[in-house]
Amino acid sequence: MRFRSTRAPAGRTVALSRALLAGLAPDGGLYVPEALPLRSAEEFADCTTPAQIAARLLAPFFAGDPLAPHLEGLARDAFGWPLRLRALRGPGPAGRVLELFHGPTLAFKDLGARFLAAALEHLPRASGERLTVLVATSGDTGGAVAAAFDGRSAIDVVLLYPRGGVSARQEHQLTCWSRNVRAFAVRGSFDDCQRLVKGAFADSDLLRSRRLTSANSINVGRLLPQTVPYAWAALLHHREHGEPLGFVVPTGNLGNALAALWARAMGLPVGPVVLVTNANRAIPESLEHGAWRPRPAVRTLASAMDVGDASNMERLLDLVPDWRALRGRVRAFAVDDDEIRARIRMDAERRGEIWCPHTAAAAEVLATRLAHEGGAFAIVATAHPAKFEGVVEPLVGRSIEVPERLAALLRRPACIRELEATPEALRAVLRV
Ligand SMILES: *Cc1c(COP(=O)(O)O)cnc(C)c1O
Repeated sequence: MRFRSTRAPAGRTVALSRALLAGLAPDGGLYVPEALPLRSAEEFADCTTPAQIAARLLAPFFAGDPLAPHLEGLARDAFGWPLRLRALRGPGPAGRVLELFHGPTLAFKDLGARFLAAALEHLPRASGERLTVLVATSGDTGGAVAAAFDGRSAIDVVLLYPRGGVSARQEHQLTCWSRNVRAFAVRGSFDDCQRLVKGAFADSDLLRSRRLTSANSINVGRLLPQTVPYAWAALLHHREHGEPLGFVVPTGNLGNALAALWARAMGLPVGPVVLVTNANRAIPESLEHGAWRPRPAVRTLASAMDVGDASNMERLLDLVPDWRALRGRVRAFAVDDDEIRARIRMDAERRGEIWCPHTAAAAEVLATRLAHEGGAFAIVATAHPAKFEGVVEPLVGRSIEVPERLAALLRRPACIRELEATPEALRAVLRV
């Protein structure tokens, strides 16, 4: 399979490895597969584990690439921890929960990050050549990327996050790694961080001295493995109940939800895909108005979704270029902080479910906007609540047990560095 830029539908294509290394296409667009191969549930009849499904689902994308012989190993590495599909607990409307947070940093981003890190390590490169992975993060991406690349000494990682825009535990998970992983608190918003990263990728001077790549959800190497949990959950549900499974997806940069839509476009039994944003309501508003209207990001309790200009919108519009058609394929709802707080409180009390703020937004939409809808839905649980204890604990009135994996990270010493939100400051960091 070859990959092309969203900005050049009939333009030059590149191999998967090239797309992974480049991150962004040279014309500033995002890489997408030339075509999404059509699959059927029967093809996966003998697959049970996510790793088996990953190897089979992703095979067409790897065909003809130097990475193809490594696919099974990559799948085993990236899906080395469990996914979980379970029923919602307690009384109230039925529903399911797809838990994607059982990886090393307890967020769904572990999965794509680990897959990409392992893939980049397998890529053939000139001896001694170092690769720098540059990432803007609103919290969870950076921790997952850091954990995935930690100790892979041929690869340097530079992480930019908005100062004060991440929780204390998130900050610790960004700043506690070995020397190949450096994190910087940028004096600005997440959108400023993203702008700096985009600027660096367009800086030809810099690129002469550095081999740069991204590990944001703009990298297609993160998106492809993210289709796997949707395929796995939908196939599991379909085998048991003979019907498709819809998903309610907490959404920021739209990487996670786009993966669900790609899985559906490949013919897997994925039902409705419902996007949930926090008070950053650019996506639901744009769907309503029929034109993309990005907005400056505002801070909310669901901080990993504080995005005003979702980078994967470009891929969504590539998949479904017509706004009217798009409205038929996805729905989107915004949930504000008051609703998030109320939902965390209510579900803890009545159902014994403790949500992270992002997952709470999805739970709110399932309970209030989809209550009368037929068909089965799973809310997508994107992070463990212990990562957002500052928000969650006061609302549920008790402390949340910290899983040992996270506790071990929190015991490591951290090193916090600040950075001006200017291209010059970033250039100085990348030249080191
Ligand atoms: C990143 C993140 C999201 C949003 O995912 P996107 O792919 O950016 O839409 C939601 N919840 C959590 C916990 C996250 O870390």
